[in-house]
Amino acid sequence: MTLLYTNPLFQQHVTGAHPEHPRRLAAIEAHLKEIGLADRCTQPQWQFATLEQLARIHDPGYVEQIQKYAAAGGGRIEADTVISERSYDAAILAAGAACDAVRRVVGSEDQSALCLVRPPGHHARPHDAMGFCLFNSIAVAARCAVAEHQLDRVLIVDWDVHHGNGTQEMFWEDGRVGFFSIHRWPFYPGTGDSNETGGGRGLGWIANEPVKYGTPLTEFHARFERSLVALAAKVRPQLVLISAGFDAHRQDPIGSLDLEVVDFARLTQIVLAAAREHAGGRVVSVLEGGYNPQRLAESVGVHLNALLKPS
Ligand SMILES: [Zn+2]
Repeated sequence: MTLLYTNPLFQQHVTGAHPEHPRRLAAIEAHLKEIGLADRCTQPQWQFATLEQLARIHDPGYVEQIQKYAAAGGGRIEADTVISERSYDAAILAAGAACDAVRRVVGSEDQSALCLVRPPGHHARPHDAMGFCLFNSIAVAARCAVAEHQLDRVLIVDWDVHHGNGTQEMFWEDGRVGFFSIHRWPFYPGTGDSNETGGGRGLGWIANEPVKYGTPLTEFHARFERSLVALAAKVRPQLVLISAGFDAHRQDPIGSLDLEVVDFARLTQIVLAAAREHAGGRVVSVLEGGYNPQRLAESVGVHLNALLKPS
């Protein structure tokens, strides 16, 4: 089984004419139902992330700012990021899902979890919304694993086509949470060069694979596996988290690294192999980008299928 997190509130984060829109999740949920995967998962109830959980990653003043902005009706909080009246609630429910999934997977209720949430999180910075993201759910969840479940070593794998700059920033000097990202380069948000490897206690705990558009898929997979295996050997994670963006698909309107749907099954299997080697197979995946709703739905389908049937 796999824990599957869905909730209608995520579709109430209303963004207007914007690539990150509620129909993304509607397409995924319809597809998972159609192919019979949703029925094979356990669907837990969970709570909003608490201020204490959010404040391990975000400035409390920033959290309050988002709450007030939404309560006042919302608007465009930065160039790319839109807030509506229910966006604050959706964002803290998203972070809460990731934390709840960590709690249950660490507690051996299940070996894996997939959180189908909006808004995405990996660009969100300690004091700033950025790139469609309000709160950095994967970072909040990694901190939960360390602070609430006494893990010493967690690995975040980010295969969204954009570099997870917010997540990298939060764990740059951490030394308990490692971060690996493969992403298109040069591309938004501009960070993620291969020489960005962490600092202080976190030196060597950050690994980046910047990939040029046009790179053959065989090379993409080989670099993903080689770098992930190397960082996992260093971190020896007790838990693996995935920032699962699907905007590297070749038909994605804002991303694209020429991946096909089936490539996301391969990426999932590579992460699962690392998780089995170091972390007892424990994986929590959290949705990030992916802006062609049909291809996104199909990609999430093969991702979840691999989580359910680890080879
Ligand atoms: Zn992205």
